[in-house]
Amino acid sequence: MSRGEGDSPNLIPEIVIMAYVITDTCTKDELCVEACPTDCIHPKKDEEGFEAATQLWVDPEGCIDCGACVPVCPTNSIFIVDEVPEDKKEFIEKNAAYYAKA
Ligand code: SF4
Repeated sequence: MSRGEGDSPNLIPEIVIMAYVITDTCTKDELCVEACPTDCIHPKKDEEGFEAATQLWVDPEGCIDCGACVPVCPTNSIFIVDEVPEDKKEFIEKNAAYYAKA
């Protein structure tokens, strides 16, 4: 009849950043920019810093992990954070850092 209080569900949400990450084989073709529904890939051609940028970057706070950018990338430069190759892990920080200083 009565429910005990010891059976409360253990549903503590985990805070996990699951953004996508662009790595240094990016050629700034902007196909990902066109595919991204949240406009979280920058700099774009008409934005300051595009010419100087070595690659494009994903804003981890704007990314909704839809994955739409991955198949359109002709150089396979975009990975979900969990699958960034070992030798490209530095780009996880670098993508975030681009927006932290902006
Ligand atoms: Fe944009 Fe989706 Fe790619 Fe995130 S996963 S950068 S939201 S296209």
